[in-house]
Amino acid sequence: PLVLGIETSCDETGVGVVHGHTLLADAVASSVEEHARFGGVVPEVASRAHLEAMVPTVERACETAGIAVGDVDAIAVTSGPGLAGALLVGVAAAKALALSLGKPLYGVNHLASHVAVDQLEHGALPEPCLAMLVSGGHSSILRVADVTGADDGVVPLGATIDDAAGEAFDKVARLLGLPFPGGPHIDRAAREGSITIDFPRGLTSRRDLERHRFDYSFSGLKTAVARWVEARERSGEPVPVADVAASFQEAVCDVLTRKAVDAAADQGIEDILIGGGVAANSRLRVLCEERAAAKGIRVRVPRPGLCTDNGAMVAALGAEMVARGRTPSSYDLPADSSLPVTEVLV
Ligand code: ATP
Ligand code: MG
Ligand code: FE
Repeated sequence: PLVLGIETSCDETGVGVVHGHTLLADAVASSVEEHARFGGVVPEVASRAHLEAMVPTVERACETAGIAVGDVDAIAVTSGPGLAGALLVGVAAAKALALSLGKPLYGVNHLASHVAVDQLEHGALPEPCLAMLVSGGHSSILRVADVTGADDGVVPLGATIDDAAGEAFDKVARLLGLPFPGGPHIDRAAREGSITIDFPRGLTSRRDLERHRFDYSFSGLKTAVARWVEARERSGEPVPVADVAASFQEAVCDVLTRKAVDAAADQGIEDILIGGGVAANSRLRVLCEERAAAKGIRVRVPRPGLCTDNGAMVAALGAEMVARGRTPSSYDLPADSSLPVTEVLV
């Protein structure tokens, strides 16, 4: 099916067009630069930017895909989770398009879209697979038996109990004086540095593992980095930014991959899929592949451009809804800022 997908959960206005597993267009207008000076996304600024970018981004996506918007079989849109005002803009636009064109509308979960997007790169998803979802707002381990969510198709096995992995990257970057969003800057800085500092690995002690076997915690790590940097500054010595970045990144990637590989082995699942903005991290990919291979587990990661928020991922999940005959959403579909990960189709 030919599906147009709209994504506005945060600061990216994304409109993608897919045909089944084939990516035809992925237009993204980002307001990230308008937020950079605030050190984080400002919801009101994001909503206004979505409003301004929506129509031109839809037009650009259709032009790139070489289609007229009326050619599509369905419209898909992120219904949640995300910023309420930002989501509303996308949902309103999707409803307007679907209603005026008389096409089915699918309100889908942003987090499941981060998983489904891999189909555009590597073909049909292996199901069941173990999804490590690591982004700016979430860090979870999911058992995905059906990415459309049918029959309890998405089950969380663990999640962060405090900060998300991407949030930790952004906070540590700020501490090191690197620009927002910090993930890509830490990734780049780390390549010039060495892993010289042994930062803590959250929830990996024997006692923590009893209660939090597949859960994550990154706030203690962030505090440890802050203390280390402060101590350096007090002593008047320069802060070795590249080494701190490499050591911090290693601590995050170590725990993320260790627990995901353990969870897959525990569930007897042979495929790990990494999704979400942090999946773009170069060290995470390498370490996960290395550890998974040792246990005969395969790893799939979409290319970096598909890991961060985009419209193609929403279209990809929408296409799967159509292909699997799921009942479309109602035209009075709500935006749900705290949509649970288990609810894939609204
Ligand atoms: P969510 O998907 O949970 O709603 P979000 O949509 O804001 O949150 P994404 O856009 O999926 O999050 O991911 C953004 C996050 O990914 C940011 O925290 C950013 O720093 C991080 N990120 C992007 N590239 C990299 C990288 N190469 N290494 C580490 N982190 C990265
Ligand atoms: Mg973003
Ligand atoms: Fe996201």
